[in-house]
Amino acid sequence: MSEDKRSLFEDLMSPRPDNNSQCKVHTIMSEMDDKDREAFAKAIDMVKADKGQGRSRTYSASWLTSVLKKHGHIISTSTVLRHVTGACSCE
Ligand SMILES: [Zn+2]
Repeated sequence: MSEDKRSLFEDLMSPRPDNNSQCKVHTIMSEMDDKDREAFAKAIDMVKADKGQGRSRTYSASWLTSVLKKHGHIISTSTVLRHVTGACSCE
């Protein structure tokens, strides 16, 4: 998961990647089609709304991460968690 994993699209869209650019979750969302993006936004809301702890959680950042990985999006749970908790630079 080093810099050379960035896609051509990402490089073109972020000439200054260190300048507090939008997080990887946002990048992945921008690559989705409208239907997937809508579903993903809903999933993020579900993760935010799920107040369960540990294994009692149905929707979690680690679940979301594993779904993304399954579909070829390489991202870490901490990045997803940062986005879900609003600690990233997206909003
Ligand atoms: Zn974000």
